[in-house]
Amino acid sequence: MASTLEENTLEKDFRILTSLGSGGFGEVKLACHIPTCTQVAVKVLEKKKNTLTSINTEVEILQSVEHRNIVNFFHVIDTSSTTFVIMEYIAGKDLKYFLRGKSILKEDEVRPIFQQVVSGVHFLHQNRIAHRDIKLENILIDRAGNIKLCDFGMARQLAEGQMMVKVCGTLRYLAPEILARKPYDGLVGDMWSLGVLLYVLVTGKFPYVESTFYGMYKVITTTKYPIPYYLSEPCLTIIEQLLTVPTQNRITICQLQESEWLGNIKQPEPPATKELLPRVVEAMCTMGYTCEDIVSTIKHRQPSNLTATFNILKYKLSCGDSLQQNQKPWLNGSHIGSPRLLLPLKRRASIPAFPPSTEEGKRHFHEEGVEGRARRCQSYKMLNSNSCQKIKPCSDGTVSQADVRMANVINSTPALIAIKMNSVESLPSDLSSGESVPDGTRTRFLNMDFSTEEPFMGHNMPNDQHKVQTTSLGSRPIRGWKLRKKRISHALRALFSCSMPTAL
Ligand code: ADP
Repeated sequence: MASTLEENTLEKDFRILTSLGSGGFGEVKLACHIPTCTQVAVKVLEKKKNTLTSINTEVEILQSVEHRNIVNFFHVIDTSSTTFVIMEYIAGKDLKYFLRGKSILKEDEVRPIFQQVVSGVHFLHQNRIAHRDIKLENILIDRAGNIKLCDFGMARQLAEGQMMVKVCGTLRYLAPEILARKPYDGLVGDMWSLGVLLYVLVTGKFPYVESTFYGMYKVITTTKYPIPYYLSEPCLTIIEQLLTVPTQNRITICQLQESEWLGNIKQPEPPATKELLPRVVEAMCTMGYTCEDIVSTIKHRQPSNLTATFNILKYKLSCGDSLQQNQKPWLNGSHIGSPRLLLPLKRRASIPAFPPSTEEGKRHFHEEGVEGRARRCQSYKMLNSNSCQKIKPCSDGTVSQADVRMANVINSTPALIAIKMNSVESLPSDLSSGESVPDGTRTRFLNMDFSTEEPFMGHNMPNDQHKVQTTSLGSRPIRGWKLRKKRISHALRALFSCSMPTAL
């Protein structure tokens, strides 16, 4: 958990765009992470409304899990009044909204959705985490059909054999043993909720509808839910195995995964941390972070702005690889375009992306502050589906002038980034000649294509940008590049030598 930071920490690196929804614990907002120009979801947990224990548990659990069907945790900002949980933004809707206005889904349409939910819950249960509020509203689906479980406000990590007593969850999804207020196993309770979920997905109705705990318990234990004629036998079998009142007879998540109806669930690849880390560290060095800062913050798990940037870059790089393979052909609607590495904003606010050439420009540069950083954030071309490129309308359906400007600039500016040349760890000073900027640092533009080992020599520079002379140094840039790679590999060795935090 983060230590208490200044109240304005959120505004420093994040720009709140609009509200995504709210639930029992707090509001979730869409925001732009300015340094990486990435859209993120920010869950706002007010300390007046939530207990410290519940906030800490939600954060700790979310932080400890990493699975493609669970919303990704990036960072936590803790202030005296509020905890902000920064997460992956799912550009889509929850399943309740998704089902609205649809006639009953075919089993073939439900299967890939339910498979992914089961995969996420299987991961949780393997780690003895009970979600305790599995329902349509807590399952998000993006435009490519990827499913993500969210809302860990009621989740708990259980010791072997640990029973729970607190009644929590949503009435229509609650297992009979919880309704009966008996000590219950949270993992077994989740299985009942999965049964309700599957029933709703294939029939469009809840198996049991009552308005009180007692009424619900009574109807579950004395009657059987209606069975529509069109359900296949294998599908009905799973529903029956899940909606089984005696807990010892209810199937476990492992048994469910092996069921005939569900078919083969593709096991997620373990996170390719080893392959991703060099790219993340390299990107961060290019942004102006030093290798020492990166190693020290990540190794000692110090929550800071750097952590957010690190986690977001790592996530975006991993998405770049996996999203392309994960397109769901069965889903109609728009598809996510082929994601590419974002073009991050450099860390230091004191360095202009495009060096000011006039006195006024220089003054403006020194005074620009957070707003200026946000504006400069707009100056990079962003191709990833999660970037701030897609401007969400405000709740009244309008889009602000600033956002329109942002979209215009983003769509027209070439992929360039300025590099601070005297940052010891960022780039060796002989990489290129640079231009002087007011604080005496030198800046040049690099093409941020990380698949390219060689330094970029400026050939893509548009005519109306400041050009940087790069030819006078002969082979020195190559040597400089090697030096930089050496520094990065030192940092990587340091990172790999410590046990990698799960939330990396
Ligand atoms: P609560 O814990 O208060 O119930 P939730 O975590 O369920 O809050 O979030 C409330 C709503 O916000 C969700 O139903 C969903 O519509 C939206 N939401 C939550 N997390 C995200 C996310 N990562 N990306 C997009 N929308 C989200």
